[in-house]
Amino acid sequence: MARKFLIGGNWKCNGTRENVAALVEVLNEGGEFPDNAEVVVAPPSIFLQTVKDTIRPDIKVSTQNVGKNVRPGAYTGELCASMIKDFGVEWVITGHSERRVGFGCAGESSDLIAEKSKVALDCGLNVIMCIGESLAVREANQTLELVLEDHMAAFLKTLEEADWSRVVVAYEPVWAIGTGVTASPAQAQEVHSAIRAWVGEKVSPAVAESLRIIYGGSVKSSNAAELATCPDIDGFLVGGASLKPDFVDIIKAVE
Ligand code: PEP
Repeated sequence: MARKFLIGGNWKCNGTRENVAALVEVLNEGGEFPDNAEVVVAPPSIFLQTVKDTIRPDIKVSTQNVGKNVRPGAYTGELCASMIKDFGVEWVITGHSERRVGFGCAGESSDLIAEKSKVALDCGLNVIMCIGESLAVREANQTLELVLEDHMAAFLKTLEEADWSRVVVAYEPVWAIGTGVTASPAQAQEVHSAIRAWVGEKVSPAVAESLRIIYGGSVKSSNAAELATCPDIDGFLVGGASLKPDFVDIIKAVE
């Protein structure tokens, strides 16, 4: 079964009412997308309503994070999974490296990210789970050890009974995020194929075959087509370029 490419746009903490409306217009006027592409955008929470109400129906909307609490309650600043589901948003991102490191406070651990992913899946949401190594880890030749034995293993422990058809793994080397330095197709393919082999061994060959593993880290229209030819790259998570018209060209590059 061919895996459909997933192209996600992570808008991070960017946007004003004016430029969010302009970005939605660019996407809405972006013409037909390839049949083999599914597109998801993750605006800041404050813009979820307006984006959901105005974006073309073939682009789905995602949150950038989810609380570990299933139900609403006394969790100041959080969005809970049942609330996201009730709101009609179908996707969440978990484990982005910017959340793993924290913002002047404790970052999110692999176990917490796995727990949040499980809660979201249990509520019927689709999850883009991010993993990836820092430059220091890559230079120490410990990339596979970290992404498999820490990041992926934490998911596996928590998600044993999960519906993997609603999971997308985003491999995002931290050294490539927002730096302009993209992993080469060979570097990305090596990690993606190791993740797929690991899932085949630990979960099942069928899940490994159908699981979408997408790449993130300075993807632009100028490098997307080449990355998309790698057999284990099933799409992209795009930060900076998702805020520009270039995002439409990235979507079209997977055709
Ligand atoms: C990201 O934030 O997930 C990301 C990949 O950012 P950028 O495309 O800007 O490197």
